[in-house]
Amino acid sequence: MNKKRKICIIGAGVSGLSSAWALSREPEKFDFSIYEAQDHIGGNGTTVDIPQRDGSSIPITPAVMGFIDDHYVMTHLMEEVGYEYDKSEFSFSIQYDDDVYAHDYDTPFKARMKPELERFKKLLTFIKQFERLGFFNPFYLTSTQFILNIFNFSYDFRYKILFPMVSNVFVNSKPFSLPIAHLRFTFDFMDIEQSVQINVFRNGCRAFYGALTKSFQDRIFLKNKVKKVVRRKDSVSVINASGIEEVFDDVIIACNANHAYELLNAPSFLERWILSSSDYVSDAGNGIVHYDDSILSPHLSRRGLDTTITLTWAQGLEIMRLSSSSTECCHMLENPISLAW
Ligand SMILES: Cc1cc2nc3c(=O)[nH]c(=O)nc-3n(C[C@H](O)[C@H](O)[C@H](O)COP(=O)(O)OP(=O)(O)OC[C@H]3O[C@@H](n4cnc5c(N)ncnc54)[C@H](O)[C@@H]3O)c2cc1C
Repeated sequence: MNKKRKICIIGAGVSGLSSAWALSREPEKFDFSIYEAQDHIGGNGTTVDIPQRDGSSIPITPAVMGFIDDHYVMTHLMEEVGYEYDKSEFSFSIQYDDDVYAHDYDTPFKARMKPELERFKKLLTFIKQFERLGFFNPFYLTSTQFILNIFNFSYDFRYKILFPMVSNVFVNSKPFSLPIAHLRFTFDFMDIEQSVQINVFRNGCRAFYGALTKSFQDRIFLKNKVKKVVRRKDSVSVINASGIEEVFDDVIIACNANHAYELLNAPSFLERWILSSSDYVSDAGNGIVHYDDSILSPHLSRRGLDTTITLTWAQGLEIMRLSSSSTECCHMLENPISLAW
């Protein structure tokens, strides 16, 4: 009889959990454990409960908005585990003093920017053609800043439209330093000019993870931070923060590239190159992603917050539920851990 492969999954975000789900379908072949540093599953897709005046609460996942039908792996997985999502709409509006740029409204500013919007859309279509070159796509090596300069995009287009839109999506304070090919992907699930259909998580990502992990919850070990991964000839050693070493046949590292880089003992040249290429911002917890004057203003001023950019990011059902609820305010921050009330 074949020996089961013993596998360690590091990270209980959606990558780790869905890897575990795939392995759980072949119990005769795999014996796996998931090690998660935090005290809850979900990673970036962490759901929090927003308390209501009537004592109830609304689950929301502030850092994950939704997904589109083209994300067919996701929708297929949800069907497999019996999780139902909701259809909604993703719309975006940005306000600077007198200027308003909104998906859903025609404003003088939007009319003024129309030629540049058209030019930008043509540029995206052109860049998309190169995606069939895969790894050899030259736009992976071309910064967005460079392209915006070459094609002469204005300050207003860059900083009053594109910047707030993409800096939110990438949680990056320097989105124009990203390759334009990377930025292009953003426009698979949103449009620069109009709102788009989007699928949102019913009752937050937590409800989906609940359905996904139903058959292997006893395999998830929380508050178990992995310190080092050492590859040997026929096995891999996983050393946790308390110095305990365990031997596995395989390890799946399902966390941020910078964490993966930190974990790997003796990374190869290619691993060093790839894993050090993504720089995750550490100050994301301070960025306000949602600011709706009618909902947030009194609370923002009470907290002494000075916002130069007024940004409304209607997050589908979640915001609709919030604004129609009796709750006066939900102050949404990028980092769910620092979600303030
Ligand atoms: C603001 C924002 C909005 C987004 N919106 C969307 C969206 O609308 N739709 C969409 O599809 N995607 C969205 N994304 C992207 C999506 O959230 C991520 O791609 C996805 O959550 C990544 O999942 P993951 O499992 O790869 O990593 P993570 O969710 O980061 O999970 C990694 C896990 O590994 C754990 N970990 C790290 N190091 C260790 C260690 N040493 N030992 C043990 N555990 C460790 C971490 O604690 C974490 O739980 C968004 C991202 C951001 C930041």
